[in-house]
Amino acid sequence: MMVASRKIRLIMELRRGGIADTDVLSAIERIPREAFTPDSFRHQAYENVAIPIGQGQTLSQPQVVALMTQALGASRRTKVLEIGTGSGYQAAVLSRLCRRVYTIERFKDLLETAERRFLDLRLHNITTRHGDGWKGWPEQAPFDRIMITAAAADVPAALVDQLAEGGRMVLPVGRSSRDQALLSLRREGGEIVEEHLGDVRFVPLVEGVPEEEAYFAQRGGSLA
Ligand code: SAH
Repeated sequence: MMVASRKIRLIMELRRGGIADTDVLSAIERIPREAFTPDSFRHQAYENVAIPIGQGQTLSQPQVVALMTQALGASRRTKVLEIGTGSGYQAAVLSRLCRRVYTIERFKDLLETAERRFLDLRLHNITTRHGDGWKGWPEQAPFDRIMITAAAADVPAALVDQLAEGGRMVLPVGRSSRDQALLSLRREGGEIVEEHLGDVRFVPLVEGVPEEEAYFAQRGGSLA
């Protein structure tokens, strides 16, 4: 089957799965998911499945990407922070919907691969950082929207602090991979309003950067 017809079939499947936001569906249609998968998984790029991307991490299932993107409700005026760049696919989809995406990844090799993809696809409104997403990006705060694409046991407090008034955060929360909930948090006045969006399965949000990368970064060396 041709890429175009596989893509249409996937979009129809997402619609049946409850994704009604046409801006979200057209952003997914415009970003070539095959550019974000390892070569050996390219044939599965338009199947509604998660795909391994190395370092034990995964590119989420299109249904989950679509659901989280729809729940985030980004618009042309919004500044978005994503934690967990991974393949870069979710950031690429967001970049078509908002003003600017800031994205943080703790694995340097994953981040560098994602950066090359952003350049190749001319997605110029994405800014990247190698580091620990638990801390957020204080120099760029506040953010109108924050999306975390790895599961924390609790909502990271530093990220709540970096959410703008009226802002929204979408994240999976749970202590084990079997027991995770997708949450939407809204900052309204002094309060945080929480909404439960369903059950999901994500890789864990890990604290810090990988040890050997921190070691080499400190010595000014490189792993490459
Ligand atoms: N959004 C990604 C999904 C990647 S899976 C995509 O579209 O492909 C989650 C990612 O979160 C992994 O790459 C993992 O390394 C990263 N991650 C986990 N803990 C992190 C942390 N504390 N800071 C930054 N990135 C983190």
